Amino acid sequence: MTISFVMFGPPGAGKGTQAQKLAKHFSIPHISTGDMLRQVKASGSPLGQEVSEIMRRGELVPAELVIKIVNERLQEADCDHGFILDGFPRTVPQAVALNDILLNQRKQLSAVVNLEVTEWELVGRLSGRRTCPRCARAYHVLFSPPKQEGYCDDCDGVALITREDDREETVRERLNVYRSQTEPLIHYYRDRYVLQSIDGEQDPETVFKDIVALFEADAS
Ligand code: AMP
Repeated sequence: MTISFVMFGPPGAGKGTQAQKLAKHFSIPHISTGDMLRQVKASGSPLGQEVSEIMRRGELVPAELVIKIVNERLQEADCDHGFILDGFPRTVPQAVALNDILLNQRKQLSAVVNLEVTEWELVGRLSGRRTCPRCARAYHVLFSPPKQEGYCDDCDGVALITREDDREETVRERLNVYRSQTEPLIHYYRDRYVLQSIDGEQDPETVFKDIVALFEADAS
């Protein structure tokens, strides 16, 4: 069975954390545009510097760049039996571009999974978020701390960082961008695909089980 879906939701809803676990569970790749853009940024090239500035402000990088990255990534062989898109699409034009990409590559989405979390909860989550700069695993100082404070559980001795775009003003801007540009996608997908809404305020293990159940119910 091929499972290909979009993890949708506001910044801080837990898309990345869930997508990482689900990718392992279903043995399909986790395609995070945020992680791929952070790699472009780390390259230090002129494009990387431009991307870095935009991300620091909490704005969206130009659609052509993200669409190109996703188009190329989906052509890799590991996507033939499914994939999880995390952070893409983020606007209606990006969703239209994704439709074209999928059509050209003869691929289909099984679902769009919408993680619902209130704004009040999001701000608390994002400001306490810590990330491993090596494996991108996300922690939270209160809700999911690492075993040893400040260090990644999976990468020996690697100190956790606060992502630049998790700083307070950037968080506020990212939530504004979500409300004005990304949230309208809910209606777009509700009309075209099975939009599956999940209560993202439950504990992460329950959210994970709820998402797995969506696809297992499909298979039976
Ligand atoms: P994320 O890790 O998904 O929260 O993304 C971090 C940042 O990367 C966002 O705030 C944007 O600046 C940029 N980004 C990620 N995905 C996209 C996208 N699909 N379109 C435009 N910008 C994006």
